Amino acid sequence: MLKLYNTLTRKKEEFKPLKKGHVGIYSCGPTVYWYQHIGNLRTYIFSDILKRILIYNGYKIKHVMNITDVGHLTSDADTGEDKMVKALRREGLPLTKESMLKLAKKYTDVFKEDFKKLNIIEPNIWSKATEHIKDMIELIKKIEKNNYTYKTKVGLIFDTSKFEDYTKLGRLKLKELKKGIRVKTDPKRKNLSDFALWITNQPKHLMQWLSPWGRGFPGWHIECSAMSMKYLGNTIDIHTGGEEHIPVHHTNEIAQSEAATGKKFVRYWLHARWLIFKGEKMSKSKGEIYTISALEKKKYSSLDYRYFCLTAHYRTQLEFSYKNLSAAKNAYQRLKNFISEIKNDKKINRKYFKEFEEAINDDLDMPKALTILWKLVRDKKATGKIQTIKKIDQIFSLNLLKKEKIKIPEKIKKLVQEREQERKKKDFKKADKIREQIKKRGYIIEDTSKGPKIKKK
Ligand code: AMP
Ligand code: ZN
Repeated sequence: MLKLYNTLTRKKEEFKPLKKGHVGIYSCGPTVYWYQHIGNLRTYIFSDILKRILIYNGYKIKHVMNITDVGHLTSDADTGEDKMVKALRREGLPLTKESMLKLAKKYTDVFKEDFKKLNIIEPNIWSKATEHIKDMIELIKKIEKNNYTYKTKVGLIFDTSKFEDYTKLGRLKLKELKKGIRVKTDPKRKNLSDFALWITNQPKHLMQWLSPWGRGFPGWHIECSAMSMKYLGNTIDIHTGGEEHIPVHHTNEIAQSEAATGKKFVRYWLHARWLIFKGEKMSKSKGEIYTISALEKKKYSSLDYRYFCLTAHYRTQLEFSYKNLSAAKNAYQRLKNFISEIKNDKKINRKYFKEFEEAINDDLDMPKALTILWKLVRDKKATGKIQTIKKIDQIFSLNLLKKEKIKIPEKIKKLVQEREQERKKKDFKKADKIREQIKKRGYIIEDTSKGPKIKKK
């Protein structure tokens, strides 16, 4: 039985999809105005693990992810510049629609490349905001027809006081919401939590469309409602995202979707907690971010990072530092070394596999699952190791059984040859000395009947 922690109820619940055997999942995707940092990617590794566990439990998955290429303003208060325009300025590109689409493509491509490197299964549908403006307009029309909106100079606004359950997902105390800039920039705003569905009166904005409310562009939240309902129906099984989306973005998604359809929008809300850097959320706006290619330059592989993420439960924050990443990298390397020594005996170890299954089905307890894997690998009496690891790695996806082709430096090869010569001369003292030298440089030699085997330490 698979249990998932639902933010809506703040409880672990047994997962039961709407349609037997099928699961619809929507994940809030990236705003493609810059590289996705490893914090963002932690959240996508989490949704990948979720998918793999659902697949393991026999479900057919339909997974949709959006690509935000319009409408995400620098402030949650429906003000500020569009993040995409800000990026054009940063990169010294012309402020045209064409260069904006080019920029979006550039960062989308890098994002998809990172997915491949991290062994993340791609969604079945990538949906770009700019290609779904019509769907958004149709959805907003329904919300307006159901009397949840009013107009101000900013555009068409959602009246959150008309939606009874507005505070439910975030357990929000609206009275305590700070009087923010929303009121100042939009004096006609009725409630501090109200948000724009369609933004007008911004003649300088690059991408604009005609709509019943005037020329303009969609508010950021509406894209996720429109695209998830288009591909997955009015009620979807699972919606994922980072923890900061609980009080605003996802709260607004629920309000506008349910205002339009009168039906429950999402049955299970799953939120990943942040990757932390120096005590704070890793964030693009704070400037100091790390990308997969930055890690690679420092000789950490993408799968070292995947292993690092799996050492923490998705509902706990994870502190990033090179020291922590190095510890994970070493553990991962050691694990693979151990595994490379194991002989295959074509069975499954039922006892260990059952323990593993219980861990993953208990709200994706990957740290526990990892401990079980280590126990299995180290258990001298256990049988069926390789076939069990094979199954386990369908979830971890850490290429645990892939034989690594290591590139041996010329210097090491030379030392190995020298050692062989000393051995032939039966000067084992000298040979051992050379072995030590090789070890110091990070390699170990194993003497086999076919000659010396070189491995990374
Ligand atoms: P964005 O491109 O900023 O819209 O973020 C894309 C996804 O990454 C969202 O689901 C965010 O919640 C998530 N995210 C952003 N920052 C972090 C972080 N430091 N750790 C984990 N997830 C994050
Ligand atoms: Zn979203």
